Amino acid sequence: MNYRKNKKGEDISILGYGCMRFTRKGNAIDLDKAEKEVMEAVNSGVNYFDTAYIYTGSEVALGEIVKRNGIRDKINIATKLPQYMIRNREAIDKYFDEELSRLQTDYIDYYLMHMLTDVAAWENLVNLGIKEWIKDKKESGQIRNIGFSFHGDTDMFIKILDAYDWDFAMVQYNYLDENTQAGAAGVKEAGRRGIPIIIMEPLRGGKLVDLLPSKAKKEIKNYKRGWTPAELAFRWLWNQPEIMCVLSGMNSIEMVQENVKTASDAKVGDFTEDDFKLVDDVKNYILDSMKVGCTGCRYCVPCPKGVDIPAIFACYNNMSIDGKTDARFEFARLVGIRKEPAFASQCVECGKCMNHCPQHIDIISELKKADKALRPLPYKIGIGIARKFMLEGRKKSKKA
Ligand code: SF4
Ligand code: SF4
Repeated sequence: MNYRKNKKGEDISILGYGCMRFTRKGNAIDLDKAEKEVMEAVNSGVNYFDTAYIYTGSEVALGEIVKRNGIRDKINIATKLPQYMIRNREAIDKYFDEELSRLQTDYIDYYLMHMLTDVAAWENLVNLGIKEWIKDKKESGQIRNIGFSFHGDTDMFIKILDAYDWDFAMVQYNYLDENTQAGAAGVKEAGRRGIPIIIMEPLRGGKLVDLLPSKAKKEIKNYKRGWTPAELAFRWLWNQPEIMCVLSGMNSIEMVQENVKTASDAKVGDFTEDDFKLVDDVKNYILDSMKVGCTGCRYCVPCPKGVDIPAIFACYNNMSIDGKTDARFEFARLVGIRKEPAFASQCVECGKCMNHCPQHIDIISELKKADKALRPLPYKIGIGIARKFMLEGRKKSKKA
């Protein structure tokens, strides 16, 4: 297993264990199976385990496995504050204490503000006294490192980096998301500031393996390195020095062994020109199968009316890869419930964006199609209710 350093200079395995995808048996997690897989990983040198309050049963299962096997001092546990459920200071303690109890531990190694999408969500927590709370928890040793997980765009990611002295950050990042979400620009900026990055969704929930277009699968299969599609995606990430750890939701012994093998070999700077060309080819095959040829370069923004053109097109394209439901959920999260609305319907057809698009996309008409596909009436209503609930919640916590 290869290791990289955290801010304190401690060794973190470059492969992390995502505990969200433990196998389920009926409604419950199959604890014995999960235990075997976790222990295979621990015995192979994996020392970073990621869970969250809202991953049903996951914290409890991980806590039980850790206790049964006496491995608390061998591993780092990462879990997350469900910040979107917080309305007052007491709730922060309530969720944190419950997480300690579920995990049967008295400290968390990596604690994250879960799913920040804009800086307003962080400011909301600041108004409730989160900075003082974190200071207390770090001084008492109950939290060792503080960070956040992020879903939003690069600009917002950098604003959140600016807003606090973070120990680490976690982003969705893979070769298909190179220019979306925090993107390569966000990852590099974090690296420049010495903030190590944890990666979630390195395979886009398995989509960069199972749902690759057949031309892409064939090119990877015939490639001289003999890599699997998963290996290609992991190695692309581990080639980048800013990345400390890549999470994988492993739920079979074979998957653990395969990933451990790659993580024992992959290093920064391993990628050759041919390897990058393979990734470009694969990306192009995927982009060809998409609805709009948007590369996420962001030359078209800011739009004077606040339309988040790249985010809308990314979600629209994801309908081909991730399916309608996942893409609409992502749209609600990225565009729908942010503080300042960024919907395609705000477009006044000024045409400013079209002059800047290197892909010569007919942005105005594609936005209309995207909006229709991503926001059918029931979703329009649902997003409207979610926005109202969220904004009222923020108002209340400001007053508190
Ligand atoms: S055409 Fe629409 S999306 Fe483009 S800049 Fe103008 S208002 Fe924004
Ligand atoms: S300029 Fe064109 S390709 Fe770039 S993000 Fe905007 S729409 Fe997409």
